[in-house]
Amino acid sequence: MRLILLGPPGAGKGTQAEVLTKKLNVPQISTGDILRAAVKKGTPVGLQAKAFMDAGDLVPDDVIIGVLKERLTADDCKNGYIFDGVPRTIAQAEALDAQDVVIDMVLSIEVPDEVIVERLGGRRTCPNCGAIYHVITKKPKVDGVCDVCEAALIIRKDDERDTILNRLETYHKETEPLIDYYKKQGKLKDIGGEFNIESQTEEVFKALGI
Ligand code: AMP
Repeated sequence: MRLILLGPPGAGKGTQAEVLTKKLNVPQISTGDILRAAVKKGTPVGLQAKAFMDAGDLVPDDVIIGVLKERLTADDCKNGYIFDGVPRTIAQAEALDAQDVVIDMVLSIEVPDEVIVERLGGRRTCPNCGAIYHVITKKPKVDGVCDVCEAALIIRKDDERDTILNRLETYHKETEPLIDYYKKQGKLKDIGGEFNIESQTEEVFKALGI
């Protein structure tokens, strides 16, 4: 199963990808996670990406395409994968098509902007393992502490309000055209994004017939 989760930042792509990766036994490929790890390590890719990420802008396509190409050569990709937050531009989607990466299905999670602003504003992230929480909808067991690795949770720089607004604008301009792109390929299914995590998962499973 090669799956793309498409939607604005904060739509629930990462959360659903986590559930699906366990259910389908294929890896979640999040370019955001890969880039954050690269920034933390200070690799050349990380150095290139950091300023774009902090501002809520997209990292240039050639960097993303390179990162993705490398990731897809890993052994765990043999039986499929779940793309979370990639592709984000028509150029990235075309690069995948050009590499004969055949996508089976694209799940489009649509969420109104005002809901996104509220959601991302409450998001807390573990700087150590990348686990994601929310002050209202997905509280950690202990306030401010990661359930998985017990590190102190942080607000990602790109979850600050001005950056959130910029990320949304970027989404509408650069990423939303992918909805039509994949609709034309007959691969798109819509998932409602305003529900709680569990009902969203139900919808995702229904769309996938699992
Ligand atoms: P995410 O965690 O998916 O929201 O990604 C965080 C940030 O990483 C984004 O705001 C972008 O700056 C960058 N990024 C992640 N994936 C991509 C992508 N496919 N194309 C361009 N930039 C990306």
